[in-house]
Amino acid sequence: MAKIAQKQEIKRVIIEAIIKILEFEGRLPNLNRCIVCNKNIEKELSLTKTLFPTHPNCSNLISFPTNQIKELFINKTTILIEDENINSLYSIILKGF
Ligand SMILES: [Zn+2]
Repeated sequence: MAKIAQKQEIKRVIIEAIIKILEFEGRLPNLNRCIVCNKNIEKELSLTKTLFPTHPNCSNLISFPTNQIKELFINKTTILIEDENINSLYSIILKGF
């Protein structure tokens, strides 16, 4: 169990670090509008591998609660994100980075 917890912790650190780098490089997208249909994002969103937001229905990608991703993008913390979503987010972020 300790090893699994440690792996989760490492993934969180890496995700937070990459988000900070993307912001530093000016590559952190705005989360307000779906890049497929250009309408407002609501309670759930999906992220492309370059972390652009879409409606889950527009992209058929894994969905996340919007508030959790906003907290990550704004405050650079994964504190609101559950372990299961951390795994999904981690693989998306690594693909695009
Ligand atoms: Zn859409």
